[in-house]
Amino acid sequence: MLSSSMDSLRTALFLSFLAICVAGCQAGGSNSSHAVGQPPFLSAVASAPPQASDDAPPPDKTGGFDGKRAYSLVAKQVAFGPRPSGSPAIAKLQDFLQSELQSYGCTVDTDGFTADTPVGRLPMKNFLVKVPGEKPGSILLGTHYDTRLQDNFVGADDGGSSTALMLELARLLCPHRGKYAVWIAFFDGEEAMKQWSDTDSRYGSREMAARLSLSGDIKKVKAFLLADIVGGRKAQFFRESSSTPALVDLVWNTAHKLGYLDLFRDSSTAAQDDHDSFLARGVPAVDVIADFMNNGYWHTPQDNLDKISAKTLAIVGHVFQESVKELQAR
Ligand SMILES: [Zn+2]
Repeated sequence: MLSSSMDSLRTALFLSFLAICVAGCQAGGSNSSHAVGQPPFLSAVASAPPQASDDAPPPDKTGGFDGKRAYSLVAKQVAFGPRPSGSPAIAKLQDFLQSELQSYGCTVDTDGFTADTPVGRLPMKNFLVKVPGEKPGSILLGTHYDTRLQDNFVGADDGGSSTALMLELARLLCPHRGKYAVWIAFFDGEEAMKQWSDTDSRYGSREMAARLSLSGDIKKVKAFLLADIVGGRKAQFFRESSSTPALVDLVWNTAHKLGYLDLFRDSSTAAQDDHDSFLARGVPAVDVIADFMNNGYWHTPQDNLDKISAKTLAIVGHVFQESVKELQAR
């Protein structure tokens, strides 16, 4: 349990998050790589089976989403160690993300850029998976894959869980062309290097939103569904107040239809996150983020693999997949 003074401190820290950033980052070169169709390979994924008591439902109960596989993808990321932007460990993760996505047959655009941060100029890299559609318009999903710059912080839930979720969704979505395109963004540099502010946070999503604005592609984005901190054993999700209400309704109605009322609650919360970079440019967006302020390990070295549940990952993955289907039917 947290003491009340700790609660106050956390509330104060949280309030310091309340800043909207609209500034763009310095952008460098861009390149894209196109995948060849290959079967998914699981051999590269570390084998770290979840505890039996927390087994995920079988994939056929969660729309094909494999919670155990997603858990293994969190374990793989954690095994790289702390992965702050610009670190050797994040470079290894970037290579892994690319090879993993290519093994699913995904087409991946890569945007390497340089960000000016309070700890210096850092190389960063965004990935954008693009599944083509039949009609104009796209549905954007997203995660950040960097971890907070902090000693011994491996970000199993904060960075690892949502990235595993999006990898597993990419495996399911890349082979199928829908009515609308589905894009899946993997952002670098969500975390502040020193203290969260307009200019020290969300480097990757601000870069991608700016780039999509320049190209005009941002007008094609009908909805942005962001996942962050989605793998906790005791995770509960509250309606995020800066998100677009109609999209929050869509995700929550989907979750309730699937029977996940215990996880998707009707309370509300507020979070500053990568969705803000797109909201600021007029894109409807929803942040699906657990009640991280009260999980007891947020932004601490205790955010480790033992906090992760294959079942939670499977449920949130199912909700995301069904929400995409809802959006495809509109
Ligand atoms: Zn964080």
